[in-house]
Amino acid sequence: MPETIIEATDLVKHYPIKGGVLRRTVGHVKAVDGVSFELHKGETLGIVGESGCGKSTLGRLLMRLEDPTSGSVVFDDVDMHDQSGAAMRKLRRDIQIVFQDPYTSLNPRKTVGDIIGEPFDIHPEVVPKAGRKRAVQELLEMVGLNPEHISRYPHQFSGGQRQRIGIARGIALKPKVLVCDEPVSALDVSVQAQVVNLMEKLQDELGLSYVFIAHDLSVVRHISDRVAVMYLGTIAELGTEDEIYSRPTHPYTQALLSAVPVPDPTLRGKREEIILTGDVPSPANPPAGCRFHTRCWRAQEKCRTEIPLLIERPDTAGGHRSACHFAEVREVLETTDLTEETFEAPTSGGLSGAVGAVKEGALGLKDRIVDAAADVKDAVTGHREHDPHDQHDQHGHRDPLA
Ligand code: SF4
Repeated sequence: MPETIIEATDLVKHYPIKGGVLRRTVGHVKAVDGVSFELHKGETLGIVGESGCGKSTLGRLLMRLEDPTSGSVVFDDVDMHDQSGAAMRKLRRDIQIVFQDPYTSLNPRKTVGDIIGEPFDIHPEVVPKAGRKRAVQELLEMVGLNPEHISRYPHQFSGGQRQRIGIARGIALKPKVLVCDEPVSALDVSVQAQVVNLMEKLQDELGLSYVFIAHDLSVVRHISDRVAVMYLGTIAELGTEDEIYSRPTHPYTQALLSAVPVPDPTLRGKREEIILTGDVPSPANPPAGCRFHTRCWRAQEKCRTEIPLLIERPDTAGGHRSACHFAEVREVLETTDLTEETFEAPTSGGLSGAVGAVKEGALGLKDRIVDAAADVKDAVTGHREHDPHDQHDQHGHRDPLA
């Protein structure tokens, strides 16, 4: 039985809707509405769903960046939402986050050394001041960046390199859990593969557990041990990667999988596509009974009145959790792991291998060009580029980590 590190029970987050002259509460947006799951030590739990399904709100609740309306998150046998002050600060060390957008999540006025070393200001017990520069350089090395680039600014790096900086900041405090909120969505497919593979390497080396939030089913399949599919603030289906992708029992999961592009041209047109009708209902006024019934082709009277529980349902090979009264396996043509194909392409034969090799080479070249341009700037400006917003730089910048 795997050890549990996070246990979320019946998590609810409702945001009030204010209206009228007196700004009274006239309703609630039910962003997360009764979500329960557990994260095991050392595993990756993928959370997928359409935009607005509540997956990012769920990530913020796990980090306690927001307090839930009700429900609990137990981290390592400690109820997170009961903690305050020093106890909460200690807990925060163990759960860190990697943000979606590497362009806006890094402060453009700070050097990479300042950005990665910032958590040490809040938790000086992790690395004493004298050893911070060395610690930051080690982190840069761990994420595949040149430790000599510690004094550069975020704009001197490519998108993939910036996300590596975000990951270095995330692991600086040696956390137990990383919540990754769409960490590769803003990157090219091939760069996505590099970052995802880096995350897997770090997981092996550091024994991390990941909550990996994304809307790309191929990326989630590549990295996840288990997957939770969310719809309108609730979990529709939860199982291992194989159960969700090979034996989906919830109609919503089946529809999502049928929409994944088929990269193999010989298989195109052979897969039965499930076209969902109707719009996604408003989370301010979700349908009664099963939330999916307004778009489900299998809906019956019971679905309109009775909420289906997320419980084990048979799937032809045991069973896994599905919130559907009429759960039934429907084989959807297997999705290919695009991430793996692209990244492993240089070692494989055929046209796709050649394309992958060219992509890989081009990306390496792009990073080298970015590095070379930054080196030239460093040489011209004298060690580091001056930041026009930072007065210290114009008078000889001190190294804050030295
Ligand atoms: Fe469709 Fe009914 Fe199952 Fe909901 S409970 S997914 S409406 S069949």
